[in-house]
Amino acid sequence: MAKSYDAIIIGAGIIGCATSLALGRKGWKVLNLDRLPAAGYGSTSGSCAIIRPYYSTLDGSAMAYESHFYWKNWAEYLGGEDIDERGLIEYHNVGSLVMKTEQNDYMRPTMALMDQLDSPYSELNAEEIRDKLPVWNTQSFFPVKRPDDPQFGIANKESLSGGVLFHAAGYISDPQLATHNIMRAAQQAGGEFIYNAEVNGIQTASGRVCGVSLAGGETLNAPVVLNAAGPHSSGINRLADVEKSMSVKTRALRQEVAHVPVPEGYNAATACVTSDSDIGVYTRPERGNYLLIGSEDPPVDKHEWVDPDDYNREFSEQWKVQVLRVCQRVPELEVPNQARGVVDLYDVTDDWIPIYDHSDLPGFYLAIGTSGNQFKNAPIAGELMADIIEATQNGNDQDNTPVEFHLKYINHTFSSGFYSRLREVNQDSSFSVLG
Ligand SMILES: Cc1cc2nc3c(=O)[nH]c(=O)nc-3n(C[C@H](O)[C@H](O)[C@H](O)COP(=O)(O)OP(=O)(O)OC[C@H]3O[C@@H](n4cnc5c(N)ncnc54)[C@H](O)[C@@H]3O)c2cc1C
Repeated sequence: MAKSYDAIIIGAGIIGCATSLALGRKGWKVLNLDRLPAAGYGSTSGSCAIIRPYYSTLDGSAMAYESHFYWKNWAEYLGGEDIDERGLIEYHNVGSLVMKTEQNDYMRPTMALMDQLDSPYSELNAEEIRDKLPVWNTQSFFPVKRPDDPQFGIANKESLSGGVLFHAAGYISDPQLATHNIMRAAQQAGGEFIYNAEVNGIQTASGRVCGVSLAGGETLNAPVVLNAAGPHSSGINRLADVEKSMSVKTRALRQEVAHVPVPEGYNAATACVTSDSDIGVYTRPERGNYLLIGSEDPPVDKHEWVDPDDYNREFSEQWKVQVLRVCQRVPELEVPNQARGVVDLYDVTDDWIPIYDHSDLPGFYLAIGTSGNQFKNAPIAGELMADIIEATQNGNDQDNTPVEFHLKYINHTFSSGFYSRLREVNQDSSFSVLG
């Protein structure tokens, strides 16, 4: 006879593990399935894992600001210091410095959102930026160009006027370990995990979900199935036949992240995360005295939408483009001959805001479309999903009376309808990884 659970979660990335923990704490018997050999081995392992409170919407910012406190109180969230034999992750709460540019309206809308949420920040002028990051120059190179543009690297007459340093920000240097930490907490709450198990079918009976089938031929039963399959989310939605009815859909986007040795004069002890729309990249310190460089997807770069099972996992020209963009800001940075870093996928929605919702198939739920910006929010997303699942299974109509979620640290309540699969594309979004 097939084994039965209260809920089956497809995926043991950070979103699937956090939802498992939250449901387990509600007393549910949960099973996570993952086609890979361990928790957090999917796109979570490639995450830059930057924590920062600013998004383009109030609700997005509120959740992100709240997440800072989960990372700060990590052992409390997990339920103890000794939950994981591999040890707990460290949150490097070093702050995030965002350059003021015409494109972000000199950060005025973002500071207004932070004021509404009481999220602390300091404005730095150009000289203060150079004091904080001595190797950074504050010339302006906007608009963002590719290195084959004859104007690339030529500074504008006007320099940057300054930046904003957000204090509830930093990074986690090991996103896979963070996921392992949550998995251990979920196991403590009764959760089971099966790896190397690929879901290839969604089982239904009487118009409801009733389980999943595995590539190995096995069937597992549960009245609740959650799609937390990351960049494979749209494929799973098609298996459940729920994609057609969604207004907002998901697809996989290829990304490259560069790791380069830090330039002379760069002081990792005082360095912070940077976000720089003037040159189209973000950076953070990386283990081993490296600088991590990610892309803010400027309009001049083409988006590479891919099949998550068939894409180029090697570095391309894009790796060098990102490094050369930072060389404009940090001329001492050397471009290594050997490319190092990460090639991975975002699971992107039409408005770069995730979907945390139920679906048109009763019992089938969605925690998808994390759009390159939901690592930080995963602990809260897990709790939100558990509330949505519990309320919907108890008869609530999530489409018309969406669950309200209270952010306990910052004392802010938002409607989960913000993350609905049926929403209109949110025009307040940045339509980028910034969310
Ligand atoms: C390069 C990069 C940089 C990023 N930087 C940041 C950042 O700085 N800050 C931030 O907040 N966020 C960032 N993100 C986003 C963040 O990492 C993701 O939002 C988050 O990790 C997604 O977690 P997940 O659990 O949804 O997906 P995943 O970790 O991909 O987990 C999904 C799991 O589902 C499994 N799966 C898929 N299909 C099946 C199937 N058929 N059967 C069984 N299992 C299946 C996969 O094997 C995988 O393990 C970044 C992402 C990337 C790729």
